[in-house]
Amino acid sequence: MTWTRHHVLGLADWTTEEYDTLLKTASSFREVLSSRTKKVPALQGVVVTNMFFEPSTRTRSSFELAAKRLSADILNFAPGTSSLSKGETILDTAKTYLAMGTNIMVIRHKQAGVPQAIAAEMDRLQTGVSILNGGDGQHEHPSQGLLDLFTLCCLLDSDNPQIKLLKGKKIVIVGDIVHSRVARSNIWSLMAAGADVHLVGPPTLLPEWFKSMKNESNSGQLFLDWHLKPALENADFIMTLRLQKERMTDYLLPSLREYHQQYGITHTRLKLCNSNVKILHPGPVNRGVEISSELMDDPNFSLIQQQVTSGIAVRMALLFLMGTSS
Ligand code: ASP
Repeated sequence: MTWTRHHVLGLADWTTEEYDTLLKTASSFREVLSSRTKKVPALQGVVVTNMFFEPSTRTRSSFELAAKRLSADILNFAPGTSSLSKGETILDTAKTYLAMGTNIMVIRHKQAGVPQAIAAEMDRLQTGVSILNGGDGQHEHPSQGLLDLFTLCCLLDSDNPQIKLLKGKKIVIVGDIVHSRVARSNIWSLMAAGADVHLVGPPTLLPEWFKSMKNESNSGQLFLDWHLKPALENADFIMTLRLQKERMTDYLLPSLREYHQQYGITHTRLKLCNSNVKILHPGPVNRGVEISSELMDDPNFSLIQQQVTSGIAVRMALLFLMGTSS
């Protein structure tokens, strides 16, 4: 398949072919990363700018390393030490990086819609610059959704990761769904894969309207559960989510201790699931809140480190596909 997507702003409208192209490309970059040189000249001369207006450890570093492994030049923008603090607008900052020859901008912002607004401006000016959403507010975090998908598909067939491998799998997403852009991106990709996606959380963090997240091309089913136990029965995978305290404007939980008692994932609770169940978490983790510390560190169940490693290959694939398509 030839890649035609110029910006990657979300996963809501991705096709099966696009997912499979991404997975196949990421798989070939995983080979590169395990080779001695770990580097290819694929994006030589391409400038990638990381514009992170919100804190990040994994995503920003992962995009930086991915760009370097592709031999691109990478610029890192840090709002605290930039002209933003002197009153410059975000669009003017973006135009400054455009004038420096940026080809791909990776944008993270606490407000949903910022990457879309910059993409629209770049298109209006016919710059040819591609925008990659590095996480916008509560909207989407597509590269996280894709790296989760890659991690799961590789686990099921390491040589040939394809989206259809997840068909009929029971995948539980548990935690602070309402504030989570990771949950939203995962709902789109997992439903496109034909998985049965169960959302679980307290009513304050899982509103009914999530039921309406469905689009025509999705073959998977979406279920909502406010109790953990029934959702965990025969689960194949559990995605745990951080409580996004920075986005909570109200007191939405009685206490973290109570939350852990009702929704925390522990070894004991895994007994309800399929025997080969695996756990994911996008990080950063509140140890002992959404997942017990022991389980988080248990390599028999936890895929958290694999997620981070997969992230580099997946982000290389995204940058490569966007940087080499016309
Ligand atoms: N790192 C993820 C994000 O940026 C998840 C989180 O922050 O909890 O959305």
